[in-house]
Amino acid sequence: MRWPGIAGLILLLTIAIGLVAVRNEWIDVPPAWSPWKPLDVTVPPNLLTRYKLSRLTGDGVLCRQVLRSTAVEFETLMDRATGENCGFTDAVLVRRTPADVGEEFSLTCRTAVSLALWETHVLQPAARRHFGQGVSGIEHFGSYSCRNVYGRPAATRSRHATAEAWDVAGFVLADGRRIRVARDWQGTGAESAFLDEVRDGACRFFDGVLSPDYNAAHADHLHLDRGPYRMCR
Ligand SMILES: [Zn+2]
Repeated sequence: MRWPGIAGLILLLTIAIGLVAVRNEWIDVPPAWSPWKPLDVTVPPNLLTRYKLSRLTGDGVLCRQVLRSTAVEFETLMDRATGENCGFTDAVLVRRTPADVGEEFSLTCRTAVSLALWETHVLQPAARRHFGQGVSGIEHFGSYSCRNVYGRPAATRSRHATAEAWDVAGFVLADGRRIRVARDWQGTGAESAFLDEVRDGACRFFDGVLSPDYNAAHADHLHLDRGPYRMCR
């Protein structure tokens, strides 16, 4: 017998039976390991996290249900079209993340869920490890804006034009100390190592992540977006 052979068939059959058993809850697996259970932002991310994130695209009801289970304070926004390829669907107005964010900002729900995952599993643990305290504030340059990439007339629409991107300029620690992308990205200190880790970790939950390593246009902020392209620079 050629591929897959008897052993391969038995393996495939075992996987199929396993999936049916998980689907029908004949066997008990933690919700985090069942592809049919919604994303739980509070549990440690695993191999299914990105799949569960992708399920939130185009499902505003499920997405808001997940976002309500996080510490993000938000209100639901009406869908909006403000121009050619500008506007948003299933967006929310973020008031706190729960860190203080100063000016509230609009993001699609799925982008806000990525933000909650990033803050919970990357940003706060990194701050505690490097500085022995949490982040109490996030300083940002805004999210939704009807414009092209770099504001060029001939370029494609930026992810900001559909409220799928957020520009983060820095962080405020619990003791009031500020860490700024513009000032602290370079160097060998704890601030620089912290920012590096925060950028790398963002790539686990966002699709496009651009930092000062990418180009001069991002010298003073981290661009975090959800979209069709994965990029981590
Ligand atoms: Zn940006």
